[in-house]
Amino acid sequence: MARDPRYDILFDQVKIGPVVAKNRFFQVPHCNGMGYRDPSALATMRAVKAQGGWGVVCSEQAEIHPSAEICPFIELRVWSEQDVPMLARVAESIHRYDSLAGLQLCHNGMNAPNLYSREIPMGPSDLPVFSVFNDPVQARAMDKQDIRDLRRWHRDAALRAKRAGYDIVYVYAGKLFGGPMFFLSRRFNQRTDEYGGSLENRARLLKELIEEVKDAVGDSLGVACRISMDEMIGEEGFHAAEARDVIAHLAEVPDLWDLTLSSWDNDSQTSRFAEEGYQEPYVLGVKQLTSKPVVGVGRFTSPDTMARMVKQGVLDCIGAARPSIADPFIPEKIRTGRVDEIRECIGCNICVSGDHTSSIVRCTQNPAMGEEWRRGWHPEYIRSKESDARVLVVGGGPAGLEAAMMLGRRGYEVALAERGRELGGRLLHERRLPGLSAWGRVADYRIGQLTPMTNVETFFESDLSAEDLLAFGFEHIVLATGSTWRRDTVARNMLNAAPLEGVEVFTPDDLMAGDRPQAKQVLIYDDDHYYMGGVLAELLAKEGHEVTLVTPASGASSWTFNTMEQHKIQARLLEANIGIQANRILLRAQSGQVALGCTFTGREEKIEVGAVVLVTARLPRLGLARALRAREAEWADAGIKSVSVIGDALAPGTIAAAVWSGRRYAEEFDTPPDPDALPFRREVAELLPFDLGAIMARNPQR
Ligand code: ADP
Ligand code: SF4
Repeated sequence: MARDPRYDILFDQVKIGPVVAKNRFFQVPHCNGMGYRDPSALATMRAVKAQGGWGVVCSEQAEIHPSAEICPFIELRVWSEQDVPMLARVAESIHRYDSLAGLQLCHNGMNAPNLYSREIPMGPSDLPVFSVFNDPVQARAMDKQDIRDLRRWHRDAALRAKRAGYDIVYVYAGKLFGGPMFFLSRRFNQRTDEYGGSLENRARLLKELIEEVKDAVGDSLGVACRISMDEMIGEEGFHAAEARDVIAHLAEVPDLWDLTLSSWDNDSQTSRFAEEGYQEPYVLGVKQLTSKPVVGVGRFTSPDTMARMVKQGVLDCIGAARPSIADPFIPEKIRTGRVDEIRECIGCNICVSGDHTSSIVRCTQNPAMGEEWRRGWHPEYIRSKESDARVLVVGGGPAGLEAAMMLGRRGYEVALAERGRELGGRLLHERRLPGLSAWGRVADYRIGQLTPMTNVETFFESDLSAEDLLAFGFEHIVLATGSTWRRDTVARNMLNAAPLEGVEVFTPDDLMAGDRPQAKQVLIYDDDHYYMGGVLAELLAKEGHEVTLVTPASGASSWTFNTMEQHKIQARLLEANIGIQANRILLRAQSGQVALGCTFTGREEKIEVGAVVLVTARLPRLGLARALRAREAEWADAGIKSVSVIGDALAPGTIAAAVWSGRRYAEEFDTPPDPDALPFRREVAELLPFDLGAIMARNPQR
């Protein structure tokens, strides 16, 4: 298909110092939980981005020296020549598809607790490290020799990047990750020498580092500076006016400006808290301060917004991390006139949770993310069918939709049966909850893909029974029938059901179906800890109830720490006058009183409420699967070769897990993996010599 000429501007070349990007699509650095542990998986993921058309594909942060490393988070390292082959593999994989490869050199400074290297962290001042777990570690103030060392380490790392084949290197002063940012920010920089005080002084280190790197590799590599536009804490922090002054001061020093917000939670805001393009006010006018290309982000998924950013002179390059994770092929889809096929990021930050848990990146919209090398999955392609078998998918939620879509792409004849009148499953209701409307994109994309497929037929109002399944004659049946919320307190912290009498009792399913408490005072008991408890609290408070959220965790929606939302959710609930009773379990309810127990002391207290909403565990909806299994003896006569259960019906989990489960079924149902073999490939690092004798010889004294 022809490209819409309105988007031609996105395909202009962009000069970045001595190198030229083929278009304006710029995959900005993003972590992925693979890093140095999974080098080939990482290289393949980046190669898919390049294949998808991004003019520039960058790495995650690449730590330049052991004096700043952020264990337990798994990033890249450019510590020595030992790292070069691995880094070269990533660069090569990106070059295969004609994209520029960028390496985000990083010295985290006082952001790095150095739990692995045990080196003393360094920063502008003698202060505790600014790390996510409040590690009991302090950084020491850098002296002039440290600054000379830091310059040399940047130079050496840039030369290694060059040897590894990169086209662009970064000097990183963004997001309170890049060490020089702590020098820029007055609250951290308490120095009285020429590196502290005035803005020019605070920017001196950044200037010197960029100049050092340019001097080392600037003849052949583009040198980018990533800077924070605002700490978003007002005058106390590094803020928009100061950021503009620094950019004006260093305007022509780097070859490209990459703009971020600080901290990462503000840079990568979820759709619950920010719309597409939310960084525009922070980056407006920066282009007027420099002749160098400017890259910015804002969860861009709409080509109209992207084109507007360029046409209105806000940005030169469309930066994307999450949109490129959800759909690595956005540039190709725009280039070939297939914008309606873009799989839009839903802004849930499940991808971030991969980094926060030191596991491999995962994505709600793109189940192939992180699975490219280890399982051979691709976000856009899948292998052809292996037979003319027909497959029945029961249930049109995220799992069933993904399974049907990918089976359809493989060329199988598929019937998708849904007992309701619409597709979407849990998303039909959840997308109507406060702040979750963008999550509906998971269903919308798949429905949009399924609709034109002639080999996939959808049947509505089909509440199927085992009898039906035996009569239909499908060789393969997959049950994606979802789950229901429990109507008791059984979850993580209580494995027995508490007695609940004399209060109205609701589950999330009840509320999503439209039922509401009569009582004004409502207690939400959240032993689930993800988004549902907080979202329902918001819903009921908006509708005029007096809401108390009780949780055994130490805060509301505690798992959303991993999606960088917990503090924002807690603030939003408190602003809505929702009481938060943390570290409490629900012991019993009786005649309008609920007894709570302290999780530490067991001490009891009572509160008056008329209704309780239980956000506890879920039960897989397995009635149909059990009924069918009970008649397994009849399967052969009915022509049934396999029956599988996927998604929440197998084990209730995230939407991301349900989508992934649907993809897995479509990949594996006709070639079941050997249960005794590993389900995916992994890479084991080369072993170096080990010699305890040498250690003893070195240490003869007792
Ligand atoms: P998942 O997240 O695993 O996809 P959902 O709860 O979102 O699970 O979706 C399950 C879907 O299955 C719902 O749309 C539900 O209406 C449908 N469903 C459940 N039982 C049956 C059944 N017996 N026949 C047809 N559809 C069913
Ligand atoms: Fe977007 Fe969610 Fe995927 Fe992250 S996990 S890229 S936020 S859809």
